[in-house]
Amino acid sequence: MSCRNLVLILGDQLDRRASVLDTCDKQADLLLMIESRHDSQRIPSHKARTALFLAAMRHHAEWLRSQGFRLEYITVDTPLAKDFQTALAETLRRHQPTEVRMTEAGEFGVQQTINEACAKAGVPVQIFADDHFLFSREEFADWRAGRKTLVMETFYRHMRKRYDILMDGSKPVGGKWNLDDKNRASFGRKGPGLIPAPPPFAPDKITAQTLRDVDKHFPNNPGSLDTFAWPVTREQALHMLDDFVEQRLPAFGPFQDAMWTDHVLLHHSGLSAALNLKLLDPREVIQKAVAAYDANKAPLSSVEGFVRQVLGWREYVRGVYWSEMPDYLELNALQANQPLPGFYWHGDTDMHCLRVVIEQTLATGYAHHIQRLMVTGVFAMLLGVRPQEIHTWYLSVYIDAVEWVEAPNTLGMSQYADNGLLGSKPYAASGRYIQRMSNYCEACRYQPGERTGENACPFTVLYWDFLMRHDERFAKHPRAAMQWRMLQRIDHAERATINQQAEELRKQFAAS
Ligand code: FAD
Ligand code: SF4
Repeated sequence: MSCRNLVLILGDQLDRRASVLDTCDKQADLLLMIESRHDSQRIPSHKARTALFLAAMRHHAEWLRSQGFRLEYITVDTPLAKDFQTALAETLRRHQPTEVRMTEAGEFGVQQTINEACAKAGVPVQIFADDHFLFSREEFADWRAGRKTLVMETFYRHMRKRYDILMDGSKPVGGKWNLDDKNRASFGRKGPGLIPAPPPFAPDKITAQTLRDVDKHFPNNPGSLDTFAWPVTREQALHMLDDFVEQRLPAFGPFQDAMWTDHVLLHHSGLSAALNLKLLDPREVIQKAVAAYDANKAPLSSVEGFVRQVLGWREYVRGVYWSEMPDYLELNALQANQPLPGFYWHGDTDMHCLRVVIEQTLATGYAHHIQRLMVTGVFAMLLGVRPQEIHTWYLSVYIDAVEWVEAPNTLGMSQYADNGLLGSKPYAASGRYIQRMSNYCEACRYQPGERTGENACPFTVLYWDFLMRHDERFAKHPRAAMQWRMLQRIDHAERATINQQAEELRKQFAAS
């Protein structure tokens, strides 16, 4: 069977409004979607992540067929699904298209693979900009040109003005761009109280089959499918968005950094995977949050805090990713070379904070931003884990993991591997931070305030050791120097004990 154009739809391109679809001739063109086994095995992907991608792809395929598109869909159980290249090359050979059309891939390596396969087959590729994002890659490159340093806050203000979001003429609504000072509350002794649970999306026939397929084809991949209830269609994603705006957005702002045992989502949206798969458009997500503020249903601190994540951070990290790839993946500014401790893959550790976050991650495929940044991320940085190892872990275990957003967050924000390009100073913190923002320390055998001795919290030992190891680099750093000055309060004898204790921890974790 021949076709005019072959239109490639990748697993994270499930946008019903993608402009590449508008160019399709429903009779002459053929759409292609591929479930590649290699993509879930290359970096062993959490079972829930694979299930979410495949279930969402299968539902999108149904929708495409219902709209009259001709679609070739290669399922995970067929020999061709061995890997993406094989499936694409064989489809090109069989259908001999005049051209391949696609929305630009989200991942650098994926686009390269496609370009190479098409070049080998002698078929030109026409790439369409991904209009899911507000800011194109070219616009980001223009914005970036000539700037010596990148600052997310500057970018965010530019985006607020450019798209007229939460603006009062040329001024920010409420008079301040940033309400972060209102957004660092912890829950206090009483805990978070009752937070309405997100809607449970019970698996339909397609999703149930997908869960069986994932269990069958990826039995040894990390994570569990037992609690799988993520939105896998656009309709479900819209339902999740409405539920968030009504139930959790009002308290999202103040408690966005807080953590609590046995509470997974707290006041967060849980929308990252739906956004990254393009089931939701960031414009509609922002617009619904702003409408809640306009209708007095959510305070400005929450709405601004949420808009900052979607309009600011999400667009910003994508811009950084595309302007820095491919070298970004190899960066290691702090020359960290420790292996990733084995407990990251099973959660069996006596550090209660890490146990809670890792066990939750393996059970659900989800952890909120502060759990990722300040628990698993900071610990790896303080220990001195090789950034590429922790990068692989984050890509593997989260349902929303896609490289364009994961890599800048991990290598840049959480590990400072990019020498401060993304985040200017390292997010170094001791166990005291975790004690303040969660109830994790209450059930732990360690004491967050102790930096030497048998009960010393490993976070705290490694924190002071980290400050000493990187004293030269940060002692005069404009944003970090104050934190580093605290070192002066520690005498030589105690410093030596901390260093020795940190060294023992490094040995212990390297062997775990
Ligand atoms: P909410 O807290 O409800 O935030 C709303 C939305 O804002 C999110 O859905 C997301 O789309 C966006 N957002 C928030 N923070 C960020 C951020 N720092 N960068 C980009 N977008 C942001 N996010 C991913 O989508 N995929 C990843 O693979 C990923 N890896 C991460 C790795 C590390 C080490 C860290 C520190 C963060 C990572 N993040 C990643 C960003 C962030 O942690 C998640 O987007 C968020 O926790 C998802 O939960 P939520 O949807 O409930 O977010
Ligand atoms: Fe984590 Fe230290 Fe608190 Fe234990 S005491 S939960 S290791 S921060």
